[in-house]
Parts: sequence; C-alpha cells; structure tokens
Amino acid sequence: EKVFSGFSKTRNNLTVIDELLLYWNLAETDRVLDKLEEALLVSDFGPKITIKIVENLREDIFSGKLKSGNEIKEALKRNVLELLTSKGSKTELQLGFRKPAVIMIVGVNGGGKTTSLGKLAYRLKNEGVKILMAAGDTFRAAASDQLEIWAERTGCEIVVAESEKAKASSVLSQAVKKGKEQGFDIVLCDTSGRLHTNYSLMEELISCKKSVAKVIPGAPNEILLVLDGTTGLNMLPQAREFNDVVGITGLILTKLDGSARGGCVVSVVDELGIPVKFVGVGEGVEDLQPFDANAFQKQLDM
Ligand code: GDP
Repeated sequence: EKVFSGFSKTRNNLTVIDELLLYWNLAETDRVLDKLEEALLVSDFGPKITIKIVENLREDIFSGKLKSGNEIKEALKRNVLELLTSKGSKTELQLGFRKPAVIMIVGVNGGGKTTSLGKLAYRLKNEGVKILMAAGDTFRAAASDQLEIWAERTGCEIVVAESEKAKASSVLSQAVKKGKEQGFDIVLCDTSGRLHTNYSLMEELISCKKSVAKVIPGAPNEILLVLDGTTGLNMLPQAREFNDVVGITGLILTKLDGSARGGCVVSVVDELGIPVKFVGVGEGVEDLQPFDANAFQKQLDM
C-alpha cells in the first residue's frame, strides 16, 4: 500500500492515458500519442525512452496490430516492462558464498545513503541475517552519530572510527576483519558523500574498495549507489561517474514517495544497464522495498 501511494504523483501524471485511451479511435491517434508523450516526459521517462515507446505504439497502431484503446494500453505496459527487464541483470542482492558478504553504500550527501543503509539493515536483520555496520563516512562528523542511531534502532553492532583522523578505508577494513572473526553474515559499509566532482572522494572510494578486498578476496560483493529519485534524470551524469570509477553493481532510488518523476527508474535502468535493487518510499524503518519490475508497473497501474 505504501509503495503504491508512494508512486501516486507519478501515477497522476499518467491518468491522462486512461482518459485518452478510453476514447481512442484511429483518427485521434496523433493527438493521443502527443498527450502520451507529454505525460511520459513529465514523469521523467526521458526523451530517448519516450520516443522509443511512442514510436513503437504508432507503428503498431497504423499497421493494424493494435486495434483498441485497451490493446494500446497493454502494449504500453509491455514496453515499460521490457525496458525494465531487458538488461537481464539481477535485482536481488548477489552476496556470494564467503562470509561476511560486504555491501558498500555510496552516493552524494543528502541522497539518503545513511537512511537507506539503516533501512536495509533492518530488512536483512528481520530475515535473520547477522549484520555489522561500518561508519565509513569519516569526513562528515555527524554521519557516524547518525549511523549509530540506526544501529541502535535496528539492534545491529557498529564499527566507528577510533580517532577523528582515521581514514575511511581503515574503518572499513577493521569492520570487515571483525565481521570475519566474529561470524557476521554481512558488513554494511557507509561511505563519505561529499560532492562527486571532488576527485579525492573517488580516490577514497577506490581505496575503501581495495582495503576491503585485502581482507576478503572478491569483496565488496555489492556496491550500491544511492540516488535521490526527486532529481529525476539529473541523477544520470552523477551515476555514470560513480560507475566509471568504482563500478556500481546496483542502485537504490530514494524518495520516490511523492515524487512525480518515478519514470526515471525506467530511464536509469536503460541508460546505465545497472539494476535498481531497492526503492526508498519514505523515512521510516520499513520504507525500503526490493525493486520488482512487475510490481513497479502495477504501482503505476499502467
Ligand atoms: P545521506 O547524506 O546520503 O546519508 O542522506 P540521509 O540518509 O541523511 O538522508 C537525507 C534526508 O533524506 C533525510 O532527511 C532522510 O530522512 C531523507 N530520506 C532518505 N530516504 C528517503 C526516502 O526514501 N523518502 C523520503 N521521503 N525521505 C528520505
């Protein structure tokens, strides 16, 4: 229910589709498709995908393949689903067989990194997984305190920097060592998120990655990039840069509750070829949902 209401604003943009398709007839095709194009663009499906979808429909309508408003709507749904699943990448976490698995959470400040880490810890802990948190955002003083609050809230242990000068990479490596020695299943690593244009952040992330791999070969198993869903398509250049430097394995799109730009999920998957693994639909502890393309399509009720 929460996910559904989360997408309500995006859905509002698209109600026009229902109205138009209800009264559709062949002579109205261009007007209907113009309106559809507008609705998809406003929802941040992005120009490339919007054109692809609209032109596919136009072709199928004029070739006589689609003969009613209902058939057009079904074809639209199929198109969206295909775009979301065509890259074939896995939306479930890929954690390998070595314990502990290591998940690094990266992204720029304010996107919802720490909150998502906390919500993910809660979700996994409820599944019976033993979680250790690592406060790897050593740059922002309050970040560690914020994560400690999440550790308390979710009943997870946490490793924090021993001194103000401690490097993020050493906090993470210490946490992973502890995870290994004490039988944790997953180490969830927070990282710093100062502006992505700051080169030293990218260097820091690379050294975090290396320090983790030194303790457990093959780790980190997942590097999840947190992106603020309210920024819509503007998130793309940022995501590309993170991916080029550290290699992202999955995305967490946050703040999709109440965002009218939910269509960005489709363009992000298509542009980056990286699966969305979770979506954030609120600030509460339960407001992180695994991403499921079928459910997403249903949430939009397209
Ligand atoms: P960080 O700087 O990337 O670690 O971002 P935070 O985790 O501190 O989150 C920044 C703000 O966004 C906080 O006020 C969060 O409560 C809020 N936030 C995070 N995820 C969501 C979400 O899915 N929905 C909403 N509405 N707010 C969120």
